[in-house]
Amino acid sequence: MDCEKAGSLMMKYMDMILTDAEALSLNRHIKTCDQCKVDFLVYDSIMNSFSEMSLVEAPEGFEDRVMETIAQLPEPRTKAAGRQISGLLGVFSVLIGLGFILILNKDAIIGWMHMYPQFEPLLSIIVPASTAIDNISLQVSTAISEFSLSMQQIGPDLTFVPLLLFGILAGVQFFMYRKERVVAKKSISHDL
Ligand SMILES: [Zn+2]
Repeated sequence: MDCEKAGSLMMKYMDMILTDAEALSLNRHIKTCDQCKVDFLVYDSIMNSFSEMSLVEAPEGFEDRVMETIAQLPEPRTKAAGRQISGLLGVFSVLIGLGFILILNKDAIIGWMHMYPQFEPLLSIIVPASTAIDNISLQVSTAISEFSLSMQQIGPDLTFVPLLLFGILAGVQFFMYRKERVVAKKSISHDL
């Protein structure tokens, strides 16, 4: 038997339509031909993993039981989500605060950075960004002062605006923290 014939018999073996006589002659070829032996071992292991897959097929009603178990799991605590939000707010307010401090002092910072040559590549990014921020903050302060004028308020010094925003964020964060504490206390006394 040549390797081509052995190959076609291996395909028949995979399709599980190999006769006893064909199995015998294939077996004889494999014993003498290393290449076909390797091929057969690969095919055979594929066949075996397929039959194992069908063996581990889920028993009757397995899926229903899984769905039932999932439905019985306790509801996820909304408290964790609340803590996450207040944590995010904390990070956010610190970033905003830092951002305002940097923006308000950016000319001083850029001047300081000019003294050190290693900041040169950074400055090529920061200086155009700073100009853009200047334009934006000019527009924002124009809008705010127009708004202030329309509200009949006198406020030429607008540096309080970032502080006000920072204060509001800090206040919201404190409020959420207190609310969480109250919820935690209630659930503790409820458990007792
Ligand atoms: Zn062969």
